Amino acid sequence: MELACLDLEGVLVPEIWIAFAERTGIAELRATTRDIPDYDVLMKQRLGLLDEHKLKIGDIQEVIATLEPLPGAIDFVDWLRERFQVIILSDTFYEFSEPLMRQLKWPTLFCHRLITDDSGRVVDYKLRQKDPKRASVKALHSLNYRVIAAGDSYNDTTMLGEADVGFLIHAPQNVIEEFPQFKSVDNLEQLKSAFVEASNRKLTL
Ligand SMILES: [Mg+2]
Repeated sequence: MELACLDLEGVLVPEIWIAFAERTGIAELRATTRDIPDYDVLMKQRLGLLDEHKLKIGDIQEVIATLEPLPGAIDFVDWLRERFQVIILSDTFYEFSEPLMRQLKWPTLFCHRLITDDSGRVVDYKLRQKDPKRASVKALHSLNYRVIAAGDSYNDTTMLGEADVGFLIHAPQNVIEEFPQFKSVDNLEQLKSAFVEASNRKLTL
């Protein structure tokens, strides 16, 4: 029995905070963990900026609804779901990713939550657990699934390492060089072939 685990941002959809920053013109929202390594400090800054610009969860989702999955991603997910049980393992938030997940036809998503008050103001966030992608693969192994995983960046590498087979896709050169144990592919078409080869069943493209 085999499962496919995929990262979301950078693999199937754009980086959501960056795209959101571009759509709203709020440049400070472009900051990522590369600029502010402490995730809690970064998130508190993001929530402060949402407040400052009076953006409630509904406004945020409206903006995100104007974003689209990356080219070919909808077809890729359809293709993969015919061949594997698919679980998206992401560090995004359910409330943030919803408009993009709708376009991907709601594959199973394990991620984090934003906390909103009655007015829709985003007051806090709740991470599901520590090292969630790796913990998820471990849990799936305990259910006797073989796991093939793919992701694009540092926050995926523990998931890729824990999986039976792990692939990098759309990864920056420094990640490719730092993790040569993971085969790297450039696009979703190549990832299809990689999944077919990694499967222990006879699959066709
Ligand atoms: Mg990613």
